[in-house]
Amino acid sequence: MSVRRVVRPVIHIDPERCDGCGACIQPCVEGAIQLIDGKARVLREELCDGAGFCLSACPTGALTVEVREAEPFDPKAAEQPANEQAATRLPVHCFRCGRTDSEVVLLAGRRAGRPLWVCTGCLPALIHSNGRVAW
Ligand code: SF4
Repeated sequence: MSVRRVVRPVIHIDPERCDGCGACIQPCVEGAIQLIDGKARVLREELCDGAGFCLSACPTGALTVEVREAEPFDPKAAEQPANEQAATRLPVHCFRCGRTDSEVVLLAGRRAGRPLWVCTGCLPALIHSNGRVAW
């Protein structure tokens, strides 16, 4: 039986830009991205919801969201990798206050081309400081 395909957002990885650092793997809780032969790849597109949380983690700009024909996102299939990752993942920290994603909601950001995480507690200060808060 063939899978019905739909037009929707899916992560695209430029293999020329990808240096295989692996920074995009943890933000993808669905487990859609894996490193194969030193390059990141979306191996099972039904696990990619196209939300783009991986984008700002990439230091080389290899990741984009493209709208194309793909298998539909399968939230049931994505549950297992998400649960496995929750059990084994390393915590990420807010670059400013140091709290982890177990304590606060963290958002992926970039500064001078480098990825970082910022919590929702520190984000307003950064937005409203007019550049006075040090990054
Ligand atoms: S974060 Fe970017 S450079 Fe690093 S593995 Fe992922 S796509 Fe490649």
